[in-house]
Amino acid sequence: MTALLQARHVTKVFGGGVFDKKNVTLALDDFSLTIPDEPPSITAIVGESGSGKTTLARLLLGLAEPTKGDVLYRGSNLQRLSRDERRAFLREVQLIFQDPYEVYNPFYKVDHVLETPVAKFGLARSRAHGKELIGEALNAVGLRAEETLGRYPHQLSGGQRQRVMIARALLVRARLIVADEPVSMVDASLRATILDTLRELNRRFGISIIYITHDLTTAYQISENIIVLYRGSVAEVGDVELAVKDPRHPYTRLLVSSIPLPDPERIWQKERQPAEAGSVSGVSLGGCKFADRCPYVMDICRTAPPPLFRTDERRAAACYLHREFPPVEMDRVVQSVAAVSASGQ
Ligand code: SF4
Repeated sequence: MTALLQARHVTKVFGGGVFDKKNVTLALDDFSLTIPDEPPSITAIVGESGSGKTTLARLLLGLAEPTKGDVLYRGSNLQRLSRDERRAFLREVQLIFQDPYEVYNPFYKVDHVLETPVAKFGLARSRAHGKELIGEALNAVGLRAEETLGRYPHQLSGGQRQRVMIARALLVRARLIVADEPVSMVDASLRATILDTLRELNRRFGISIIYITHDLTTAYQISENIIVLYRGSVAEVGDVELAVKDPRHPYTRLLVSSIPLPDPERIWQKERQPAEAGSVSGVSLGGCKFADRCPYVMDICRTAPPPLFRTDERRAAACYLHREFPPVEMDRVVQSVAAVSASGQ
């Protein structure tokens, strides 16, 4: 198995320095993930604001350098790619932003974001061939060239702009799309269409997707693997069905209980605030980061960060409630899920 992109024990710390040892933020802690070239996968990374998911996206795209560990693209350190490797990386790994409007130059027609990569990566034999490729890519994401090209970005809807960016990823024959909150600024009615388009890209064109979101519902809709981040650490990882239908980490349970269900009988679970948790405040930095919100906190939770315990073949939770299970590396769980998914079970 060739790894297309691989994070190996990546840690990112912000702040601090020679004269400031106190103001240090641990944005991401010991994160490992392998995205193989084959088979194509969909991995969701879920967390609230401050969970480290944006930092992770920046690290995976080479926009930030790990404090510890490394990110590899086809076996080469992302921070030290040769010119040819960087060019290949920029084509094979595409980013889709939360707000696609920021990517567009308002003075250029949308054609520009599609014609530029065709020229830059030498994708077409001729101008006519380039137009044909652009038309095919637009078609594949449910857009019609005659209704899309020749317009300025503000003349398209948010959903259309986002789909043009997905068409761009397809056009350059991307192997991996890092989609950072791609539907959070799109009307609810269009969310399903865009998620369907991403899934279609995965199935039909073999493109892997890392779907980064705060929204467990859309993560459940699109992914097979889920990684739940809490304040820079992995809380739960594995099969999305298991994690959402039977969460093992108290934080994942909290996220699941926050999903609005159209059920008038449902009794809303109220999140415990730190004040209610009483004895759990003042947890040491060396303990579980969720302790000051956790209704199940125990003495052991304050001693050291919990490792990931493999509660099922395809899932692990970083919680001492499951300490009877063996510890496991997060990437091994992700690969187990991917293997089962690829075999169609
Ligand atoms: Fe709660 Fe302890 Fe599990 Fe952390 S390790 S989530 S504090 S029970």
